[in-house]
Amino acid sequence: MSKTGNIGVTSQNIFPIIKKFLYSDHEIFLRELVSNAVDATQKLKTLASVGEAKGELGDTRVRILVDKKKKILTVQDHGIGMTADEVDKYINQIAFSGAEEFVNKYKDNAQAIIGHFGLGFYSAFMVADKVEIFSLSYQEDAKAVHWSCDGSPEYTMEETIKADRGTDIVLHINEEYTQYLEDSTVEGLLTRYCKFLPVEIAFGMKKEWKDGKQVETDEENIINDVNPAWTRKPADLTEEDYKKFYHQLYPHQMDEPLFHIHLNVDYPFNLTGILYFPRIKNNIDIQRNKIQLYCNQVFVTDEVENIVPQYLTLLHGVIDSPDIPLNVSRSYLQSDNNVKKISNHITKKVADKLAEIFKSDREDFEQKWNDIKLFIQYGMLSDEKFYDRAIGFSLLKNLDGKYFTFEEYKAQVKEAQTDKNGDLIMLYAQDADASYAYIQRAKEKGYDVLLMDGELDVHAMSQLEQKSFESTDSSKLAVRFVRVDSDVIENIIQKEDKEKVELTENEENALRYSFETLLPKNDKTRYNVSLEAVSADALPVFLTQNEFMRRMKEMSVHQQGMSFYGNMPDQYNLVINTANDKVKALLAEITAACAVGTTPILEQLAAKKVEEATLQEAQKGKKDADLTQEEKDAVTNITKELAALKQQLKEQYGAYAATSDKLHQLIDIAMLAAGQLKGEALAKFVNRSVELL
Ligand code: ADP
Repeated sequence: MSKTGNIGVTSQNIFPIIKKFLYSDHEIFLRELVSNAVDATQKLKTLASVGEAKGELGDTRVRILVDKKKKILTVQDHGIGMTADEVDKYINQIAFSGAEEFVNKYKDNAQAIIGHFGLGFYSAFMVADKVEIFSLSYQEDAKAVHWSCDGSPEYTMEETIKADRGTDIVLHINEEYTQYLEDSTVEGLLTRYCKFLPVEIAFGMKKEWKDGKQVETDEENIINDVNPAWTRKPADLTEEDYKKFYHQLYPHQMDEPLFHIHLNVDYPFNLTGILYFPRIKNNIDIQRNKIQLYCNQVFVTDEVENIVPQYLTLLHGVIDSPDIPLNVSRSYLQSDNNVKKISNHITKKVADKLAEIFKSDREDFEQKWNDIKLFIQYGMLSDEKFYDRAIGFSLLKNLDGKYFTFEEYKAQVKEAQTDKNGDLIMLYAQDADASYAYIQRAKEKGYDVLLMDGELDVHAMSQLEQKSFESTDSSKLAVRFVRVDSDVIENIIQKEDKEKVELTENEENALRYSFETLLPKNDKTRYNVSLEAVSADALPVFLTQNEFMRRMKEMSVHQQGMSFYGNMPDQYNLVINTANDKVKALLAEITAACAVGTTPILEQLAAKKVEEATLQEAQKGKKDADLTQEEKDAVTNITKELAALKQQLKEQYGAYAATSDKLHQLIDIAMLAAGQLKGEALAKFVNRSVELL
């Protein structure tokens, strides 16, 4: 038997096209050929088990052989082999027609292809000038066949002599691809793609260190584990086995996983796998180890973004499913029904597992909370369905280290922390040390404070507020999270109407102007003075920061389209507690000390105000157009004069404030309590404090 023929390809030569399009993925040729070799071996085993293949199975290892001198790479198996008729049918007709179809389909849109199609045998031509097949079928009296093709649509086929059953696929590697003749490259590819194939894959000999040198042993170097954990029954696996497999998957990972989920579905789609919860470090982006996607134990990709929701990509492990279509574009993949079902299934399993651990061993769950918190919050923020499941086990931690679910915490603080409007205020700190004074004040009032120092906490709080707001009916509480140092505690949780301290306009001005002149001025931070009768026992002066603005700024770090908030200066309120006795005394001091300078100004101001009032009275009811120029000028002048007088007043108080140690001291203490007293200002404060002793 000897035959030459034309492969059933209509385009004159599709090889250059394929080579060009698939440039970035040419390495998959090895995966494809080894997969075929494994398939052929598995088929033989099946036939033998039903008695259809006679004789000994013998050695069934698949071997990869590299001959650097001859520039040949061979994939050798001892599987079912092919007869000449089968080569004709499977290679000349089926393999190549598949390839042609592929080229026709994707020639205009190669970029869109996921890159993990199964081009099969044909992909050998991506790296080889010439490909030969030597094959001997398992069938009795079969004759060995030699097929050869140099990349044109022409092939030759003839009878040959081959001692053992099976197939050798021989690739004459192209000049441009000689890296595939390097042991390290080939071994790298085999470990990447073939690590868990179900038939032993041998590449070269095992090496060991002897006298400071690496020497070959007489044992073959087996690349793969033919029984990876995910293909075994959960009942047959110990906790140790799961851990061992984790390290097999990620040899460079030192940390142990927190827990695992064994996936096993055969209807309505096929899916097996093991997912691990890693210890997530506090950075969403740095995730070296990714979930690996396999198709019947053949590695396909570790980019699973289109197959599982993004937050699940924080997990580690493997998913094996022949039902994920791989020869389609990424955008198509997301809308594929099977993929959607698979994604939903995984989400549900993950949530179930977490709920189960939470229920069965809450202590263990709490211990792991810090490590899984980021993942759970990310999931809740990005997936409504996951939120609904996770709200039952997502935890809040207070400053005493106690954990609560949202509902538990509501019940816990409801009584004490509901304000006069019926809102439930949840207090939190991001930095317990920095907010120490505020936390103490809250605790004195019998309130509880949460610790919210996680990367996604701000977002998570907003979500909880939003959800409780949406679900507010008459029986439910609106929940608000407020950072414990965003205001005095009496203002954060307002109980009854505040005591009133009536100050005259002049007294207010005296305080306001004195403090204003001393506040630091810069572009990044703005300070605003406000007077409030907080309570007699609250601090005389303190800084607060509006919860909403601060949170928007924090959220802008992670969220696109929020840079408006990110670019705003930090805004603080310097609250002067007019109910505090020290402030009352200070006010008396300021007014007394400034009296000489301010009395004449205040008299003039009072007179001008009377003048202004008279003018306003005279012009009352008149439209702008009805006023004479003279009348208009009178108004403008008086406004100017009033402003000038106020300015004079400011200067008077300012001049006094500049010399007042007490005022400086009060502002510095407020700054210090908020962790904002630094550098020169801090040094001055220390010196002044020493002086005052
Ligand atoms: P696929 O593997 O997707 O069917 P291929 O182009 O890789 O497509 O192979 C076409 C066919 O050639 C296979 O289905 C198989 O019947 C046959 N074949 C390929 N490689 C081997 C091999 N090493 N041993 C036996 N048969 C093979």
